[in-house]
Amino acid sequence: MKRYRYILDPSSKKYKCPSCEKFSFVVFIDTETTEIMENYGRCDRETKCAFFYHPTKDGFQNCKYSEVMDSHFYEVSPSFHKNDLVELSMSNHNNFLKYLKFLFGSSIANSVQKKYKIGTLCEFNNGTIFWQIDERKKVRAGKVIQYFETGKRTKNITWMHQFLRTKNEISDFNLSQCLYGLHLTQNDKTSIIALVESEKTACIMSVIFPGFLWLSCGAKGEFKLKKLEPIKHRKIIAYPDCEIQKNGSTTYQEWKRKADGFNATGFDIYVSDLLEKEVADEQKNEGIDISDFFMKKLYKKI
Ligand SMILES: [Zn+2]
Repeated sequence: MKRYRYILDPSSKKYKCPSCEKFSFVVFIDTETTEIMENYGRCDRETKCAFFYHPTKDGFQNCKYSEVMDSHFYEVSPSFHKNDLVELSMSNHNNFLKYLKFLFGSSIANSVQKKYKIGTLCEFNNGTIFWQIDERKKVRAGKVIQYFETGKRTKNITWMHQFLRTKNEISDFNLSQCLYGLHLTQNDKTSIIALVESEKTACIMSVIFPGFLWLSCGAKGEFKLKKLEPIKHRKIIAYPDCEIQKNGSTTYQEWKRKADGFNATGFDIYVSDLLEKEVADEQKNEGIDISDFFMKKLYKKI
C-alpha cells in the first residue's frame, strides 16, 4: 500500500468544522511528526457541507478515504532491545552517576539509578545510557550521552542500536522512542506526571520533588503526540526549559501551543510558566531548566 505523509485522522475524533461549525470535522495528521494539523481536514457532513481543505496544493487527490480509515497503517512496528542488556549495563559506573552521588549521596544515587534504569556504555568512554522502557517493560531505545564529572553534558551522543549495529550484534532496528521513565507509570498510576526535556532533569527532580512522577521526552522537539499517547489519561504538568530560540520564540510558547492542540483531543496538560516568571533574563539566554532552578535555590551547589 502506498504511504502518504498527510492522512485523515483514523480515530473517530471530530473537531469543529471551519465552514459549517458543526463538530463533524476530521483533521489531517502528519505521519512524520504524528502531529495534528488542525486547520486541514474534511467535514463529515458530506451532502450538507463537505468542506475539504488539503495540507498540500497538489495533494493526494487519488487517496481513497476508506483506505485511510482502515487502520493505523503508518505505524512501523518497533524494534526492542533485550531486557538483560539493561541489567548488564547497570553494573558499571559513569560520570552522571558520580554527579548524582555528589549531589545526593550514594544511597539516593543508587536508588535513582535502579528506578530510572541508568546504564553505562564502557566502549563509549563510559557514556551514560538512558534506557527508554515502555509501559509494557519493552526496551525501545538506549540513548547514550557522555557527561563531565560536573554533570554538564558533552556533545557526544549515540544510541545503543547504532552501537550494536557497528558491532554487528543487530542488523535492522526500527527506532520507536517512548518517554524516558514511562515504565514507572505502571507502578505509580496516580501521581501527577511532570514532564521535562532532558533525562538528567527528570532524574534530579525525582529526588527534589518526589511528589510528582518525573518523565522526560528527550528534547524540546520530542514533545509530541505519539510520545504522549500512553499517558493521555493522566494529569500532566510540563516544564519546558527556559530558553529563547533563534526565531525569538520560547520553548514555553512552543509547548503551550502544542499542548493546547493536544488538550483539544482529550489530554490534560498544563504547561508551567514558573521559569518564565522567575528566571532572570541573563539566565534565560543561557537556557535553564527546572532542576537548575531548584538546585540554585535549594542546594546552591551548581
Ligand atoms: Zn462542515
